[in-house]
Amino acid sequence: MRTEPIRVIGAGPAGCSASLSALQQGAHVTIFEKTRFPRHKVCGEFLSPEAVVILERLGVLSEFLDLRPHPVTEANVFFGAVNKRWKLEESAFGISRYALDSALLGCAVNRGAELVREAAEPNHGLTILAHGRQHSSSRKDRLFGFKAHYSGPLSHSVDLYFDRKMYVGINCIEDRLTNVCGLAPESLLREHGFDPDSLLAAIPRLKERISPLCRQMEWLITGPLVFGGGFGQAAPGVYPVGDALGFVDPFTGSGMLGALVTGLVAGRSCAQAVPSARYLAECKSILQSQYGAASLFRKLVSWGLADKLAWLLPGQRLFSLTRPAVARAL
Ligand SMILES: Cc1cc2nc3c(=O)[nH]c(=O)nc-3n(C[C@H](O)[C@H](O)[C@H](O)COP(=O)(O)OP(=O)(O)OC[C@H]3O[C@@H](n4cnc5c(N)ncnc54)[C@H](O)[C@@H]3O)c2cc1C
Repeated sequence: MRTEPIRVIGAGPAGCSASLSALQQGAHVTIFEKTRFPRHKVCGEFLSPEAVVILERLGVLSEFLDLRPHPVTEANVFFGAVNKRWKLEESAFGISRYALDSALLGCAVNRGAELVREAAEPNHGLTILAHGRQHSSSRKDRLFGFKAHYSGPLSHSVDLYFDRKMYVGINCIEDRLTNVCGLAPESLLREHGFDPDSLLAAIPRLKERISPLCRQMEWLITGPLVFGGGFGQAAPGVYPVGDALGFVDPFTGSGMLGALVTGLVAGRSCAQAVPSARYLAECKSILQSQYGAASLFRKLVSWGLADKLAWLLPGQRLFSLTRPAVARAL
């Protein structure tokens, strides 16, 4: 067991999970967060069912349920005109990042973490890197994410629309709101003057889905987005977690789950003096097949073959292929 303090850079789901996990091991934790919470964030706000086990292990499940996340029990996926619908084996959750991130940070502080409201860089001390994904991209047609909250009729399904190299996910969250979040290449956004309203209106099925809803906030846009994992190396004493470790394609709706899982393992490993190389190998075994499935699926979508795969595989199998191997982290 180490006695030196642990610095956690970033207070998103990964940083908070890592902090809570390290605190459970008796470590002294300081969290650095450059943004004031609560704050909105571009995210589909679909939290995978397996998150319950992690939140329970971190001792914050009741605080999470107090946020009254919206139950999501069905998936409804459109590949152009082809539709696939199935019941989720376990209920997932719709929860805003505004509420979730703030609640997790509150839990970490209540359990003894010190919060420093400023940006930090890694130094020579023990560090959990939870600063989120990298922003630079060298690819030609860069990808951007956008999201807004709407009011209107509620539903218990997560609706995913793949169309023209973009996709949009729609699911309800707490407080009777609906999250609309998408990802599109720069060229397509440019055609629509970087206005998501115009982009969504150009796809009849999406236009129809959104027409009874009323937008409640300005669009948030983020990017460019770069996918992939970096399980290769980290300096001794440095533990990258969540998106700082690797960014899985958001259509999987499992980025927050990955952040919570790797946070749990990182906090424990850092506090117990497990070498960071061994920690990275553990993360690889938890995340690798999920990354492989997500990248294959993205290729199939871009080649226009995803609908054919969708007919071959049961929906629940499609879903489980893109989840991290949570049991390995417990
Ligand atoms: C378009 C889109 C849709 C998505 N939809 C979903 C979805 O439906 N479901 C899902 O599970 N995941 C989804 N994701 C992925 C999910 O948002 C991420 O996987 C998740 O936010 C990762 O959490 P994190 O804690 O690693 O990083 P973040 O949530 O990015 O948190 C990083 C934190 O670090 C802080 N920070 C950064 N640099 C510093 C610094 N130097 N010093 C101090 N603080 C710093 C930031 O302010 C931020 O608060 C989506 C992502 C995108 C882009």
